[in-house]
Amino acid sequence: MAQLKKYQMYINGEWVDSENGETFDSVNPATGDTWAEIPAATANDVDRAVTAAHRAFTAGAWSTMLATERGVLLRKLAEVMKEHSEKLGETETTDTGKLLSETRWQAAYLSTYYHYYAGLADKVHGDTFPIDKPNMWTMTVREPIGVVAAVVPWNSQLFLVAVKIAPALAAGNTVVLKASEHASAAMLEFGKVFEKAGFPPGVINIVTGMGDPCGAALTRHPLVDRISFTGGLSSAREIVRNSAENFAEVSLELGGKSPLLIFDDVDLDNAVNGILLSIFSATGQSCVAGSRLIVQEGIYDELLARLAERAAGIRIGDPTDANSQMGPLATQAQLDRIEETVAHAIENGGTLISGGKRPDGLEKGWYYEPTIVACPHQELKIVREEMFGPVLSVLKFKDEQEAIALGNDTRFGLASGVFTRDIGRALRVTKALRTGIVWVNTYRMVSPMAPFGGYKDSGHGRESGLEAIYDYTRVKTVWLNTSADPIDDPFRMQ
Ligand code: NAD
Repeated sequence: MAQLKKYQMYINGEWVDSENGETFDSVNPATGDTWAEIPAATANDVDRAVTAAHRAFTAGAWSTMLATERGVLLRKLAEVMKEHSEKLGETETTDTGKLLSETRWQAAYLSTYYHYYAGLADKVHGDTFPIDKPNMWTMTVREPIGVVAAVVPWNSQLFLVAVKIAPALAAGNTVVLKASEHASAAMLEFGKVFEKAGFPPGVINIVTGMGDPCGAALTRHPLVDRISFTGGLSSAREIVRNSAENFAEVSLELGGKSPLLIFDDVDLDNAVNGILLSIFSATGQSCVAGSRLIVQEGIYDELLARLAERAAGIRIGDPTDANSQMGPLATQAQLDRIEETVAHAIENGGTLISGGKRPDGLEKGWYYEPTIVACPHQELKIVREEMFGPVLSVLKFKDEQEAIALGNDTRFGLASGVFTRDIGRALRVTKALRTGIVWVNTYRMVSPMAPFGGYKDSGHGRESGLEAIYDYTRVKTVWLNTSADPIDDPFRMQ
């Protein structure tokens, strides 16, 4: 057996083990083999990281650095990130089973996020007001909040980190990153990139470990001022409860059950490609996966036939093989849950259109076929719950009103897709859908310039875009008395 790679955490600019030397395994989902050992942080380790971040925020080079200089450092980070995108992509693929072609591309593209917020670092400023009092000069200044706890899941981890730390650092905060226990190596490789970029110690700290104790100790730590969380609903509930201890501001990017509404007038080829892209890219392990297909009755049969044929032809296999179009699921637990939910749907009136099992010839690793299930109604678990895998439920609709009603009939509200050639309808439906993102005749587009986030149980707060940097600042209001005279009557309100 190949020797295990041993990783360390990054705290206060140093590479360290956990205080008690405990570790956990990182398992390669494509083979089921353990390949790396990751430190399991204790509450004391987390305390060291938060204390370092707090110290860097309140004293030392970072606390006095000009905004323009922070921008320069972020640009450097963007460049180093690009230079190391191959290694970062490889590690993320070994950690998560995501296609190497995607992880490499993503790691390289992420540099655009650091460049974007580098440019904004010295453009965040306050206001002055034509105030309704005599002799007063009143203004606001925008200040960084303090120590940001960034807690991320395993899928697209480097991306999810970039959308948090690029604005947070540009605004002048310091950060403690909590890696996902399923993708810690990629995050620790990112720590090396960060170190090379030359930030002062303590500005970024990376801790690894389980949700509890590591994430829990971080999110309830008294020196944490802001929590930026991406992940599932039950962890989000714990984190919101933890924030009652430190009253940190919390933003939440949670799961989805995104609908794709396909109208009779579509270009079928474009719609089929859009559907495949939305649900089977990244093996469906994407928060925005278009997992609820809702199709108008006139094209229902033809669309499903074409979709089934294309799904059956998807090349599933080794994520490092450039020929593969779908890799494995990230964990055994995911595979078990998906198998159980698909079986439940079929026992309760669902019809299997495609897939529905582990692929032949891939006994090792956690692979599952691209799966399509036609459903009689929306009450099935397969339609209600986030699957986080390559599983598509399908329903039929008659008219626009019914399509909107079905689309909105979910507790989630992250994203949606509308496929139609009728621009008026596209805009009506877009307005009616209660989701933070609507893609029309396309899907899964993201950019540093475009805000990203959900409605309802998909969370609140927006990442990316201009406004995201303001979410990492607080406003301080300053009143300056310009009068040459003393305050006349201390007991008279003005
Ligand atoms: P998860 O909620 O299990 O874990 C996310 C992170 O939270 C991990 O680092 C975990 O260790 C940590 N955590 C768990 N319990 C905690 C606690 N008590 N205190 C502090 N931290 C704790 O999620 P996952 O299974 O890794 O990821 C999948 C989920 O993430 C899906 O629901 C997916 O939709 C969601 N997601 C959302 C977005 C988005 O932008 N909206 C993006 C990607 C993934």
